[in-house]
Parts: sequence; C-alpha cells; structure tokens
Amino acid sequence: MKGSKMGNKGNGGLSPIRHHNFCAGPAALPTAVLERARDEMLDYRGHGLSVMEMSHRSPEYVAIAEKAEADLRELLAIPANYKVLFTQGGATQQFAAVPFNLLGQGGSANFVDTGIWSRKAIAEARHLFGDVHVAASSEAGGNTAVPRPEQLELSGDAGYLHYTANETIGGLAFDYTPRAMRPDGREVPLVCDMSSSILSGPLDVSRFGVIYAGAQKNIGPAGLVVVIVRDDLLDRARADMPSLFGYKALAEAGSMVNTPATYSWYLAGLVFEWLKDDIGGLSAMEAINARKAEKLYAAIDGSGLYSNPIATANRSRMNVPFVLADDRLDKPFLAEAEEAGLLNLKGHRSVGGMRASLYNAVPEAAVDALIDFMADFENRRG
Ligand SMILES: *Cc1c(COP(=O)(O)O)cnc(C)c1O
Repeated sequence: MKGSKMGNKGNGGLSPIRHHNFCAGPAALPTAVLERARDEMLDYRGHGLSVMEMSHRSPEYVAIAEKAEADLRELLAIPANYKVLFTQGGATQQFAAVPFNLLGQGGSANFVDTGIWSRKAIAEARHLFGDVHVAASSEAGGNTAVPRPEQLELSGDAGYLHYTANETIGGLAFDYTPRAMRPDGREVPLVCDMSSSILSGPLDVSRFGVIYAGAQKNIGPAGLVVVIVRDDLLDRARADMPSLFGYKALAEAGSMVNTPATYSWYLAGLVFEWLKDDIGGLSAMEAINARKAEKLYAAIDGSGLYSNPIATANRSRMNVPFVLADDRLDKPFLAEAEEAGLLNLKGHRSVGGMRASLYNAVPEAAVDALIDFMADFENRRG
C-alpha cells in the first residue's frame, strides 16, 4: 500500500520465531506478508469477515483480485495484448493445458529438455497427443549446461516450443531466451514454465506466447497458477479440451469460470505489493538475488567439502544444489543445520545431496547464516 510499507525493510527480516527456510516449494514467504495476512485474518479492512469467507463475486474480493493483477502487470511490464489468468491445478496441469490450448489447428509440441521438470512436461504431452519433438536436450552432458541457441532444431510441424527457464531440481537455468523458429523460418509461440524463477528479476514478456508458473515458489502459497498468454493465441484450442483448461474462457470470465483459489490469490497480491513497495521492483529484487547466489556459489567453489557441477553461466540463482565430498556426512550436515535453524536443505529425493532454494522471500541474512554454518561444519567435520 502506498505510504505504508509492510515493515521489515529490505528483504524481509527474520523474527525470533521464524527459522531460515530453504525449501524448494512450497517455499518461504516474506515475513512482512504473513504479518499483514495475520493482521487482516479475522476482519479484512473493516468488512467484518476474512478474505477466505468472502464471495469471489463480492466487490471487496473483486477489488483484491483486480489489484493483484494490476500489480503483477506493473511489476513485469506485461503488454496490454496479454491476458493474465489466476488458475489452479499446479504447473503440472499446465503440462496438459498448454497443448490442449495451442494445438487445435494441428502441429506438434516441441520441447527443450533440460531436466526433470522438462521431462514431466514432455511425458504429459506425449501421453495425450503422442506426437512430440525434442528440439534439443542437455541430457547427454548430465544436465550441467543448457543447449546453445544454435543447437535448437524444431520440427517442420512445430506448433510451439516449450522450455523450463529454471530446472528447480537440477539447479540449471537458461542464460538466454530461446527463439522458436521452425526450419521454414516461421516463428511459433514460445512457451515457458517459469514456476521457480518468475519475479526473480525483470522479464521481456513480449518474447513469449505463454508463460506459466505455479505459485508456491516465488508468487505465494500453493493452490494457484499464474498464466500469462498472448491474446492472439486464445483461438487455437482443441474442441475436446476440458472446459476448465481453456485460456479463452478463463480470460473472458476474469479467471472466475468456477471458484478460484481466493485466499492464495489474495496472498499473491500481498507478495506483489511487497515486491513493489518494500523491495522496490524487480530490478532491485534481481540485484539482491544475484548477491545471494554469488556468495553461496563462491563459498561452495572455495571449499574442499562442497561442490556444484553446473556450468557457471547456467547456475540457478533460485535453487543451489550441492553435494558433500563424503556422503556419510549428509545426515550430520542436515541434522546440525536444522539445529542451527536452517531448514529444508535436503536435496530432491531423485538426486540426493543438498539443495538451498534462495527464492525472493529468502533474505540475504539467511544465506549469510548458511554460509557461516557450512564453513563451520567443514572445519569441524570436513
Ligand atoms: C514446482 C514445479 C513444477 C510443479 O508444480 P506443481 O504446482 O506441483 O504442479 C513444475 N515445474 C517447475 C519448474 C517447478 O519448479
């Protein structure tokens, strides 16, 4: 809100009861946002009820929803010819919704494969439509670097190109925005799963046909997915699509085809306000995120115990996986970290090791505390 910042200046201070949370998702939320939600919990701004108890059609709630969209549009400088949808089903539902919405006029789904989340999107498109094409893959190199632009080979019938900007599990991030160019020189829509990197810095939305992101990393609590879609793509849907998947219907109904995830949408709005008013926008957020990640990677690279295999240019600023030279130290590392108030550092069950997720709401002080702990652990046990 103008003139009344949420407090906890900077990147959200740490209250004595709140530990440092490095969870990959659902992830940390800014303390200032949770305090605001607490203050408004029983009586939302004098209306005498909680946001959770409001009709989604009431003027109070519609104002909350519209303010959230306006703030997101301002933060990302979303052009007027894009619709913003607040829908449900997780990013995983978009793995199906995207081909249903974009392949009504034929064509095949094309993908860049950079890791586990890309592969889940590929598997769902293949399951539904059979015919998919992998335009480039980083698998042969162990997913330690993303394919270079000149390695992308779309199929002649490509209907769109899908990629994952930041592989949350592998800690692998694109350092460029791909171009979705077919061999005949025709550009097709670029679709991006930005679940774990949206709002981490400024973005040129005009490069994309569809951007989608599950909320529980950088947007708000689970239960909400934000879809940003260029309006000329709204008429490409397949007729056999489940009606709740339809971008056009959602756009026309202000994302209220059915009851939306009202409370998650409200909290997302508070996060957008925090980014605008407390942080000062996405360029400021990007600078903080760069500092956080650079320090942690420097500590890893400078140690004899910890390592991260990702090519420097493709290291994720949001998810920093690392392994210990001796995996017998994993258990004591995690136990002692938790004792020191550093939570959720265990790597994804499919890859093991450690992972520190440094989303927007993780303050720089948390990263400093982690680095201190890691150095101390290495001195004692390494
Ligand atoms: C977390 C995540 C998903 C899955 O999100 P759900 O909301 O659980 O469906 C998909 N893609 C990426 C990149 C993610 O980080």
